[in-house]
Amino acid sequence: MAPITDAIAQIRSRIDQAARRAGRDPAEVTLIAVTKTHPPELVAEAVAAGALDLGENRVQEAAAKIAALAGLTPRPRWHLIGHLQRNKAKLAAQLFDMVHSVDSLRLAEALDRQRAEAGPQPAALPILLQVNVSGEASKEGFDLPGGAANRAGLERMLPEVEGILALPRLRVRGLMTIAPYGDDPEAARPTFRALRELRDELARRYPQAHWGELSMGMTGDFEVAIAEGATLVRVGRAIFGERG
Ligand SMILES: *Cc1c(COP(=O)(O)O)cnc(C)c1O
Repeated sequence: MAPITDAIAQIRSRIDQAARRAGRDPAEVTLIAVTKTHPPELVAEAVAAGALDLGENRVQEAAAKIAALAGLTPRPRWHLIGHLQRNKAKLAAQLFDMVHSVDSLRLAEALDRQRAEAGPQPAALPILLQVNVSGEASKEGFDLPGGAANRAGLERMLPEVEGILALPRLRVRGLMTIAPYGDDPEAARPTFRALRELRDELARRYPQAHWGELSMGMTGDFEVAIAEGATLVRVGRAIFGERG
């Protein structure tokens, strides 16, 4: 097997095992192959190997790749997993099948406005709310160290969530987080657990919305994330190797 095909098969098998160990159905966990920094030819190889969900963290870079790979069959779904600036909302609303990095009402409003222009009768854009539950200073996302247990922080966040839920051209599907970097995957567990518990709390408060998706876990920690309920794991290095 070609290296990428082989790597994807290995990751899928590790995803399956992690799900079964957690008593979950492996079909609940989608692999997002993170293609940032990698050229279209490698991305096409991954798609041929069955990686139909692709993650990019920069709108500009993704735009070039999506254009280069237009016409690929089957058509992959593109996920924006990196921080989104409001001045890129227009392009993002046109290009992506899901935006994982919505972290303010203002950004969501910009995406909602731009989605209206994305074509005749555009479908609502699926989004995730990115939350920084670990408290690491460098992380993007709604700032909620400690997750739902942080009652004061939660009360500050809820009006924004309600505003986002009311936007007609966006559909909230769940939450996303990035765990602190480190060598020990177990160190990420409290972060993943806090995101799941926050999701449960939001689902109790806003049962009219869909909260099924938890985007969490990367090369170093996706198995722990699956044990804590991840439905979307974002894996780059374990498929494509180290980024240059
Ligand atoms: C780059 C990136 C990933 C993938 O990280 P790997 O360690 O290469 O698996 C996942 N999520 C986000 C938000 C990223 O920016």
